[in-house]
Amino acid sequence: MRDKVIYFDNNATTAVAPEVFEAMKPFYLENYGNPSSIYTFGGLLKKDIEQARARVAKLLGSTFTDREGHYSEIMFTSCGTESDSAAIYSALQTCPKRRKVVTTKVEHPAVLNLCKELERKGYKISYVPVDSRGRLDMEILKEQIDNDTAVVSVMWANNEVGNIYPVEEIAKIAHAKGALFHTDAVQAVGKIPMNMDESEIDMLSLSAHKLHGPKGIGALYIRKGIRFKPFLTGGHQEKGRRAGTENVAGIVGLGKAAELALEKLEEENTRVKALRDRLEEGIKNNIPQIRINGDLESRLPNTSSISFEYIEGESILMLMDRLKICASSGSACTTGSLEPSHVLRSMGIPYTAAHGTIRFSLSVYNTEEEVDYCIEHLPKVISTLRSMSPFWAE
Ligand code: PLP
Repeated sequence: MRDKVIYFDNNATTAVAPEVFEAMKPFYLENYGNPSSIYTFGGLLKKDIEQARARVAKLLGSTFTDREGHYSEIMFTSCGTESDSAAIYSALQTCPKRRKVVTTKVEHPAVLNLCKELERKGYKISYVPVDSRGRLDMEILKEQIDNDTAVVSVMWANNEVGNIYPVEEIAKIAHAKGALFHTDAVQAVGKIPMNMDESEIDMLSLSAHKLHGPKGIGALYIRKGIRFKPFLTGGHQEKGRRAGTENVAGIVGLGKAAELALEKLEEENTRVKALRDRLEEGIKNNIPQIRINGDLESRLPNTSSISFEYIEGESILMLMDRLKICASSGSACTTGSLEPSHVLRSMGIPYTAAHGTIRFSLSVYNTEEEVDYCIEHLPKVISTLRSMSPFWAE
């Protein structure tokens, strides 16, 4: 029996990198002042916050600095969810004559549930559908973006199947109709290269805990010149754009995580991708009747969504747990019963496959030995469960 878990659930959250933890420590025990204080003990922390802001800006490829030399396109928030809300809320507040939001059926609940709430408040929301590989219907998207659209919000990469969406193209379409463009890049940041200086994206959300930073800290990129109305009002922090005493340790942690992510971007797209591909090949070669979901031409390097037909994802996870392998299923518990996720349902994956879907999401901390252990033991898990399934016939 292994004593260390094999963690293949990095799209849910990641381990804090040891370097990040070390960088954060002094800001709890020693440098705990309030950065807004006049005295040096607090005020000096401003430079640590600005160093972190510069590191996040570098990861995103944003070089703009304001008169004070600050990378002011980056605003710190508490998480990806807050960044998404702040972006969409601001777009609606600053373009009050426009009453429509265009988004997709496969967004994270951070955007989808906000949109449902906006619908209840009288806004018109258009949800663009996807095909069986989770690719957006670009024709419908173009039709839906009109002169009433305040903001188009499309995720850069999908958390469940890993699809990477053509956000630059969509930003141009939005701008042609005078709408703003926001992207939820929570799963994309640190996994694929970004160059915001060359981009048309107006606002971009990210979250530290998806890139080996701490939980409870995120950021919103707001392109210079874009009008912004604060989501949280109160104090004057973050140049009056986001009230609340700064989470200095979290901000420093996010900065360090961003610096590391940039250093490891190449490894993510070579070694981690190779591990993901090895896992998929091993599963394909050793287990019959499986389906790899998503856009195989345009996917995050670390993500693999695999449907094992005729069995339940939760049962697979339970047996994998005994092997100390952590992953996610493609189901969500709604009204007491396990339903395939909205992403798999939007893709029209048949029920018999959608129910048995597992998402493996890797990171730079995974090894070939872990992948091989999974390939060795998973076939037995699947055959055991299938032997008990009334629907399975070999
Ligand atoms: N957006 C996407 C695509 C995500 O995967 C997540 C987290 O799973 C979020 C938003 C929410 O981020 P946070 O947990 O930082 O609020």
